[in-house]
Amino acid sequence: MIPDAYYENIHKIDYSKLKKIGVKNIFFDIDNTVIPYKVTNIDKKTLKLFKDLKKDFNVFLFSNSRRKRVMTIAKELKVNAYYLSMKPFKKNYKKIINMFNKNECIFVGDQFMTDVFGAKKNRLKVIFVNRFNDNEPLTTRFWRLIEKQYLKKYKKLQVFELNSYYDRLK
Ligand SMILES: [Mg+2]
Repeated sequence: MIPDAYYENIHKIDYSKLKKIGVKNIFFDIDNTVIPYKVTNIDKKTLKLFKDLKKDFNVFLFSNSRRKRVMTIAKELKVNAYYLSMKPFKKNYKKIINMFNKNECIFVGDQFMTDVFGAKKNRLKVIFVNRFNDNEPLTTRFWRLIEKQYLKKYKKLQVFELNSYYDRLK
């Protein structure tokens, strides 16, 4: 269960490749993926990225955060959003799978236990990105402890290593 691609951040992702391989719907995690946790104002570069992405894709936010935070960010970015998504649990992925063609969807996030495993368990494509910082809520810090163990194992198996970027999407 390793990501299909790994980029330093959302700005580095090869979106033209996503378009080429038939991706139509991109689902972004918010916290520490699009913006740092607790931040609500979005920088110009990110606003521009989303504006550009909307020309080629349906763009969504797919976050475990609460409604108020998610909808505030969604309004700023002018995209639709899923809040309280309960990643990695199946319920909300199922909603998406029922609505869209699986092969045309891709998920982007900064956490293995929620973003990557959630998508992979549902056989969905996922891109992993580095988190902004370590300022995270208690639940995330708990997930990070388990993530650390996985990353150790993956490094040993030589299947994934932090800061070794790759893209195996096809
Ligand atoms: Mg996150």
